[in-house]
Amino acid sequence: MMKSFKVMLVPNNRQRTRLFQFAGAARFAYNWALNREQQAYAIGEKFNSSNDLRKEFTALRNSAEYSWLKTISNNVTKQAIKDCADAYTKFFKKQAGRPRFKSRRHGNFSFYQDTDKIRITATHVKLEAIAASKRRNRQRLNWIRLAERGRIPVGAKYKQPRINFDGLNWWLSVAVEFEQEQLPAEGEPLGIDLGLKELAVCSDSIIYPNINRTTEVRRLKKKQRRLQRSTSRKYEMNKKKGERYAKTCNIIKSEKKLLRLHHRLTNIRQNYRHQITSEIIRRKPRLIVLEDLNVHGMMSNRHLSKAVQEQGFYEFRRQIEYKAEWAGITVIVADRYYPSSKTCVTCGHVKKNLRLSERIYRCEKCGNKIDRDLQAAINLRRYGELAG
Ligand SMILES: [Zn+2]
Repeated sequence: MMKSFKVMLVPNNRQRTRLFQFAGAARFAYNWALNREQQAYAIGEKFNSSNDLRKEFTALRNSAEYSWLKTISNNVTKQAIKDCADAYTKFFKKQAGRPRFKSRRHGNFSFYQDTDKIRITATHVKLEAIAASKRRNRQRLNWIRLAERGRIPVGAKYKQPRINFDGLNWWLSVAVEFEQEQLPAEGEPLGIDLGLKELAVCSDSIIYPNINRTTEVRRLKKKQRRLQRSTSRKYEMNKKKGERYAKTCNIIKSEKKLLRLHHRLTNIRQNYRHQITSEIIRRKPRLIVLEDLNVHGMMSNRHLSKAVQEQGFYEFRRQIEYKAEWAGITVIVADRYYPSSKTCVTCGHVKKNLRLSERIYRCEKCGNKIDRDLQAAINLRRYGELAG
């Protein structure tokens, strides 16, 4: 079983410069490979394999014009070329769109590390060739400090190490293979109804509220809206007649601020989601039943789309699924057309027209009254018990 880890880096200035150079070289190699493939295609030549391209690239690297590439770890550009070839393979298999050039403007700052070369301790990560010099006191530059101590297991076999920049910070992500030793969980089955009013209502009556309705998040969102408006006003003010929009220092400054705020909101939401999914898993139900949300359908309702997006239902489900796997819990996703909120829990009557505003379900047949979301959660639990 693979677990992935993502930890922020705390590089010093020299290291930061090198990280950008590495990412730049990876982007250059990727675009170069893409260009070669396009050329080959245009003149009706056979497709270049990633091996051929790499050989060609090595020659390029040795030429005087591209000598700057020599200071970059060979593995970084090699992997970038392989990534390009893989992107084409996916495209030919119709699993992805046509590969496109990576643009610096759209924040493609990421590169690969060789699995054999990477070293991780509790506090640092060693990347290959960050120090351009081989001298011993310079070699210290290869060790970059990690923001979290002991987060990544030390001495494991690391897979798919990647370094990337999110516009503010640099991050290291690696996957580590673990052996499963968990016994299957044995607690009561749990149905979970996801929604907008509350994030999750469980069949055992435990409710996890929607974090986007808290004062703190509302305050930040308001701040964000203001900043967005003021930034776009700045753009308008600086635009001279008939010319293009210009970026001034002040605009860059407020865009940075905006990005920071955006990250903060994303982090608050993601952190909250993790807390809740972990909490649910810790209760060790033997079965978790979720509903197959038609997120696509909900997103097309423009009054709801923003709220749905903020809740991150897919991410919630993804977290539940992988955490459940670690804990030996079965996850069942109910059929999309299963009427979980429309079915009465006491008599089984299905109410045809249930409006979204009806928070309390009143049964037309037996007169039972119950909270709509709790009823959905209980129905989901039953659905799972019958299915599993
Ligand atoms: Zn009823």
